[in-house]
Amino acid sequence: MTAPRRTEPRIVIIGAGPTGLGAGYRLQQLGHEDWVILEATDRVGGLATSFTDEAGFTYDIGGHVMFSHYDYYDDLVDKLMGGDYTELQREAWVWMEDRFIPYPFQNNIRDLDPQTVFDCVNGLIKAQREDKPFSNFKEWVDSVMGAGIAEHFMIPYNFKVWATPAELMNFVWIGERVSVVDTESILRNVILREDQVSWGPNNTFKYPLRGGTGYLYEGMRTFVEDHLELETPVASVDPVAKQVRTADGRTWDYDVLLNTMPLNKLIERTDGAPAEVAGAVDGLHWSGSHIVGVGVDRQADTSKNWIYFPEPDVPFYRVTYLSNYSPYMTAKPGQTLFLTETSQSHHKPEDASTIVQRVIDGLVSTKLMEEADRDLVVTTWLCSPEMSYPVPSVTRDTALGTIQPWLRSQDIWSRGRFGAWLYEIGNMDHSAMQGVEFVDAVLEGKPETVWIPRGEGEAGAGIR
Ligand SMILES: Cc1cc2nc3c(=O)[nH]c(=O)nc-3n(C[C@H](O)[C@H](O)[C@H](O)COP(=O)(O)OP(=O)(O)OC[C@H]3O[C@@H](n4cnc5c(N)ncnc54)[C@H](O)[C@@H]3O)c2cc1C
Repeated sequence: MTAPRRTEPRIVIIGAGPTGLGAGYRLQQLGHEDWVILEATDRVGGLATSFTDEAGFTYDIGGHVMFSHYDYYDDLVDKLMGGDYTELQREAWVWMEDRFIPYPFQNNIRDLDPQTVFDCVNGLIKAQREDKPFSNFKEWVDSVMGAGIAEHFMIPYNFKVWATPAELMNFVWIGERVSVVDTESILRNVILREDQVSWGPNNTFKYPLRGGTGYLYEGMRTFVEDHLELETPVASVDPVAKQVRTADGRTWDYDVLLNTMPLNKLIERTDGAPAEVAGAVDGLHWSGSHIVGVGVDRQADTSKNWIYFPEPDVPFYRVTYLSNYSPYMTAKPGQTLFLTETSQSHHKPEDASTIVQRVIDGLVSTKLMEEADRDLVVTTWLCSPEMSYPVPSVTRDTALGTIQPWLRSQDIWSRGRFGAWLYEIGNMDHSAMQGVEFVDAVLEGKPETVWIPRGEGEAGAGIR
């Protein structure tokens, strides 16, 4: 006979990134007492952490823009930031063919080389006439946007972001992440010269006045401090004994486990995972990054927020003018902070030892920096997370459909950017809300709305 379920389940949370902190925040809000967050590093915030270097410049791990789909998260952000934030209008651009065009590319092609404009319009018209079926992201791009937009922007740009060939990716993540173009919009842009720059969910956004994005998660830390174990990496999980073992040899009993570390690493550390579950992790793919910051001792000459780079001659796919987000990101007023993102994977290796120099050369060749600015560089910063993007690969959903139901049968919930391995719900607001909704589901039986079951046999498994 199994013991009756406790009314106050013991909850162990692996990871103090936005997902784990969201869960912890909600647990304290509901007055639940029996829980702990085990965090491997000496800080909170995970990939949403910020760092200030000795020169006094503050960096995020890649440009983090705060926008939200959820009232609960908005209220939390307001509570944590008070009035200490800036509110910005998105000014996103694409640099290609030696010029800037407004983002999103596919709605704003009018100023490109006439041959490029012709290829894009002609390709779109042909694609819409043919209406070809598609089974991966490459075919989706060809079918929906046509060969011209695919060749000039979508395929090279997405390879730079994902470090993964488009034919190895699925298309279910697209939703609000990719602006789909229609013939009328493109003709309006080309013939009537109308720009369309307001597309997307993040066209206005808030940013903390001081401390970067990580400021927000430092703020959440105060609500979970009494239940937080830093520098306590989880070494293994025993789902039969319902026990987590940490690298320091301690054990932590649980009734319900929330995992936010990468799903493949959780399975590697879980005792007795069935062979098909252990094998399914081969279907999970990811890319890593080199995030390089460059601080320059001169005023930025633009109000741009960030710029996308589809062409292969520079390593980065995106550069953020972080100093335009808040005047406190630099050591002194009147300085510029560029934050650049370069992806890497075995499909696209990027040498760490040369990346900072290649980034500076790229900033000069794309005219973001003048040649003379090289002498004004006062600081550089490099951070190279091994895992930064959970790739929506064609094999992902089958893998998740095998792994997630088994974990749930063991009272293990795996949520968050790499815990759920779902890029489409991999932003900070999605992640924090997955943590909040985990708690509401476990303690109050409420259905999750953010996390989406994917893959065979998963339907209906989202509710405890
Ligand atoms: C380059 C880049 C740009 C981004 N831009 C944006 C943006 O503009 N807007 C936005 O909303 N989001 C953005 N994001 C996403 C954002 O960073 C994530 O949504 C968020 O950090 C995910 O939170 P998480 O808690 O799920 O995971 P993570 O942040 O990865 O946190 C997981 C935590 O688990 C810990 N951990 C791992 N293994 C163990 C272990 N064995 N034991 C204990 N702890 C462990 C880690 O140390 C970490 O603290 C971006 C991400 C990247 C990489």
